[in-house]
Amino acid sequence: MLDRQGREIHYLRMSVTDRCNLRCRYCMSEEGVNWLPKQELLSDEQFARLARLLAGLGVDKVRLTGGEPLLRQGLDRLVGMLRDIDGLHTLALTTNGVLLEEQLPALVKAGLNEVNVSLDTLDRTQYAKIARRDALPQALAGLRAAVETPGLVVKVNCVPIGENDEQLVPLASLAEGGGVTVRFIELMPLGLGASLQRRTERQVLERLEAAYGPARPAEESGRAGPARYVTFPGFKGKVGFISALSHRFCSGCNRVRLTAAGFLKTCLQYEKGIDLKPLLNAGAQDADIFAAIQEAIWEKPQGHHFGTPPAGGDERRNMNEIGG
Ligand code: SAM
Ligand code: SF4
Repeated sequence: MLDRQGREIHYLRMSVTDRCNLRCRYCMSEEGVNWLPKQELLSDEQFARLARLLAGLGVDKVRLTGGEPLLRQGLDRLVGMLRDIDGLHTLALTTNGVLLEEQLPALVKAGLNEVNVSLDTLDRTQYAKIARRDALPQALAGLRAAVETPGLVVKVNCVPIGENDEQLVPLASLAEGGGVTVRFIELMPLGLGASLQRRTERQVLERLEAAYGPARPAEESGRAGPARYVTFPGFKGKVGFISALSHRFCSGCNRVRLTAAGFLKTCLQYEKGIDLKPLLNAGAQDADIFAAIQEAIWEKPQGHHFGTPPAGGDERRNMNEIGG
């Protein structure tokens, strides 16, 4: 459906848990994580019901995220339920990859067709510093399993935060052979991300061009999202940039987010949206939930205001509660 700004909303990011087995410094605090009580998480049936209603409004892609989505028990069951919804053509997962090797076969069998693995460095010591867990070997095993799965679309997402400067070229080289697309995501000043150093798209690109030569635009695949893609001489694959600050993409925003507790968020930076949980708990009819979703999407904010002082209504939660 179209929102008030005329943007077509067809992509749902669904956070299936707020829990995580890592503690990335830009996303979660080391201590004092107050997990949602289990009974507050939506059930598979509730997630599938909301996804079906959203598909009725034109959503054709769902991404499972978190927290770490692979910590949700029986994620393949939910994937299977989503696969059976008319109109949902793409079922994607964003994961830190640590538990991926073990779970991937069941997820693919259930209908998963895209996986993004978050990886900020290929250096084990640095990984343990950024993610606060020594889990690089498991994450790489997960990535390898994904790349070796026929037909699965695989991307690597890296957040450049200064200390991983030296790793940007090695990470980009994963795209050289063409099996993986590598994307650099500008750190967003949200939650803990506000206190860390950020590298801009230009800074990252300069580094990559110094190593690989001039970048040239790469063909977009699928419908326009926030990423801009380039490729380098000798590369079979693509390198992408998602730059919320230096290349604001709000005018082309195509997504809404559903938190693990059932809040439909219509912009990353604002608390704005609608809490669908009370409607679900009160036994509301599909038509009433449908109308509530339609109204919230229509009112989707025009854009973020990262880079200007905090304002009323800004999101206060950390990324693990929102899903990135
Ligand atoms: N645990 C999974 C993972 O790490 O891929 C999924 C959830 S995580 C919140 C989703 C994405 O958000 C990750 O790629 C992570 O790097 C990114 N992220 C977290 N905090 C961020 C921030 N402040 N700015 C930009 N990206 C962020
Ligand atoms: Fe966990 Fe993902 Fe956040 Fe890292 S970015 S702490 S893996 S939710």
